[in-house]
Amino acid sequence: MRKRAVIAVAWANILWWLGATVVSAAPVLVQDGVPRATIVVPEGAGETTRQAAAELARYVKAISGGELPTVAAAQAVAGVCPVRVGVRDGLLAEETEFLQGHAEGVVIRVADDAVVLCGGSERGTLFAVYRFLDQYLGCRWLAPDIEFVPAAVTLAPAVGRTMTAPAFEHRFFVDRANAACLSWGLKVGMNGYYSPDSAPVNGQCFYLPPQLPGCHTYCQVIPPDKYFATHPEWYPLIKEQRVPSRDNVQLCVTAEGLADEFARNIVAIFDGDPNCRITSISPNDGYGWCECERCQKLDRDLCGARTTRQGLAGDRPFMGDRVFWFANEVARRVAVKHPDRLLLVLAYVNYAEPPDTVKPLPNVVPYLCHYAPADYSRAIADPASEANRQFDVLLRKWAVAAPHLLFYSYVSKSMWWRLPRPVQRTFAEDIRYLHSLGIRRYYCQSTLSDWKLDGPLYYVIARLLWDPEANPVAVAEDWTRHMFGAVAPAMNDFYRHVDDSVRRTGKPYSEDPPSQAPGLYSPADIECARAALARAAKSADSAAGLDRIKAVSDTFEYGWQMVLAIEMMQRYRDELDIDAATLVKEHGQKALALCRNSGAARFVESMDLNIELGEFASGFGKAETKGGRTCWNADETGPGDTSAGWATVVIRAADATQPVTVAMDVWGESALDGIVVNTDGERRSYAQGGIWTPVKPEVPLSGQARWETLVFRIPPAAMAPGKRTQTIGLGGGDSQIWVAHIRVGDAPPK
Ligand SMILES: [Zn+2]
Repeated sequence: MRKRAVIAVAWANILWWLGATVVSAAPVLVQDGVPRATIVVPEGAGETTRQAAAELARYVKAISGGELPTVAAAQAVAGVCPVRVGVRDGLLAEETEFLQGHAEGVVIRVADDAVVLCGGSERGTLFAVYRFLDQYLGCRWLAPDIEFVPAAVTLAPAVGRTMTAPAFEHRFFVDRANAACLSWGLKVGMNGYYSPDSAPVNGQCFYLPPQLPGCHTYCQVIPPDKYFATHPEWYPLIKEQRVPSRDNVQLCVTAEGLADEFARNIVAIFDGDPNCRITSISPNDGYGWCECERCQKLDRDLCGARTTRQGLAGDRPFMGDRVFWFANEVARRVAVKHPDRLLLVLAYVNYAEPPDTVKPLPNVVPYLCHYAPADYSRAIADPASEANRQFDVLLRKWAVAAPHLLFYSYVSKSMWWRLPRPVQRTFAEDIRYLHSLGIRRYYCQSTLSDWKLDGPLYYVIARLLWDPEANPVAVAEDWTRHMFGAVAPAMNDFYRHVDDSVRRTGKPYSEDPPSQAPGLYSPADIECARAALARAAKSADSAAGLDRIKAVSDTFEYGWQMVLAIEMMQRYRDELDIDAATLVKEHGQKALALCRNSGAARFVESMDLNIELGEFASGFGKAETKGGRTCWNADETGPGDTSAGWATVVIRAADATQPVTVAMDVWGESALDGIVVNTDGERRSYAQGGIWTPVKPEVPLSGQARWETLVFRIPPAAMAPGKRTQTIGLGGGDSQIWVAHIRVGDAPPK
């Protein structure tokens, strides 16, 4: 029934065509809103090819109002311009040869009597259709749910040919739950990560198994709820105890039977879904490595139990050999049944460097994170960046040891609190650089929908993964032209000034706004950026355009107010200037009125703690009430977990050669028998080599449920010499300490 209707439309079309006498070098698909061409798909076309044809018809109609019929090849009618979607008959010899070498390759040929849109696979055909709509008909997919579709009642694409294939084999982003993001990804040529249910219509793009949706999977594969009772020995021995935590500890990788069970569970996932071709078998986030004798012997045998070499991960035990040794144990077992499936293994924090002796098996894909060390204000290959220079050393080693690695790029960085993060140019340079090293797999940690913050970043990256030599500035300007129309020049200025603001200061940053945002942006460039936004808003030629400018403007203004708040916080901490504390709140509240961000909100709220507690403090938990007083616990992660709770307080000490008295109102039941004073003045942790001198109170706590005032007399020998402020620390381990107020010197009690 449906087919007959399609043919009827096709005939009506032909009658019109026969009556016309238009002769044109360019094929006419639609004339004055009337269809003049037919979409032709192969006999028995697969779901993805039919989807490609449907998308073509949908956009042609959206542009011109003309509805192109779709027919199978056998029903194609002579005399009507065919738009052949995924039809291999009629390809020229060099086109066939090109597609044979590139499964995702795209051939677009626009001739005066036909249009050919064909891929090396069904997925390639889908990409060919989107490329044609973009390059020949003028559509743009700017962000999830934001597209530019031109209006033209007559469609006559210029004669020409495009043969292209993606430069990167794997082009992954992540926003699986969001249909608009997945749809956007296809249109701009990304091939992972999607979902199993969308695989039939996107040519089997890559997806992670729903059972293991993330990258940190140790305890998802071996969940303690299921196994700890029968196999406690599979979980890490930490301080002589087996720890069954799901999240922040690892596995005892040398335990008998663990690799068998791990591999069995992975095999079962692949058995259950023949289309799933990739999963992660990586450690959990954080540390928590097993300290058992066998695991330690493994480290000694494989890498001499050395510590890390890359600077910013700190001097921790190097775990690269252990992690990839276990990955190989699992991979060898999985390969017996599924040799073609890929097993991702993070190379991250204290296992970011390539292993010393273990060579990852071919089905193990190292998943190298540009995380520690990292400096996002410069490109990886920029010799001016110390952090990136360190990263580059390990990247180059990896590129030799395992060029099939997947590069994990922090395109989105939630820890940066949505502050301006001008990384477009650096990421473009990095993509070119990775390509030159032979790396062909690229993953974006992504918040695709946040175009208000990131602008054309994702769009530029998607383009460069197909063509690393594309000019990122031209691609970005194409994006602003379609996003903002006539005010695009002002918006280009805006993005350029934000970029310049970080470039000019030359400061590095990675992920810690309180320590890295102060001084990172040059205020003069920020003012220029702001002025450019104002110019754009003034000249906006439509309400929709103005809405977009306002969305960018609000996000930017939020970010800048937060930067000012952070800078004031630094002044407060360094000089204990109470006016600065007030300004932290003012800027922070202005920022949070424009945009909510949980990290930023916690930062601003922490000012209440400082003001109430009476001194500059950090690391305390949420406000509580005990014995009728508001107080804060020094173990912000809460009791009963294994995370160390540790709080610090910065106090004024005008003259470090004189003793200072600190009075602290502490709940009597607290586990506090002393404080420590940062004697080297560097505020580094013990793990980072910081020097802290213990100081006992004049009278210890009673252990009773009541408020008591502890008095500490800090001698000059414990203090950092020559500093106007001193840092004291309290807590640690899982100790519970509640503090209501702190007074320094002769300040009156509250
Ligand atoms: Zn162990």
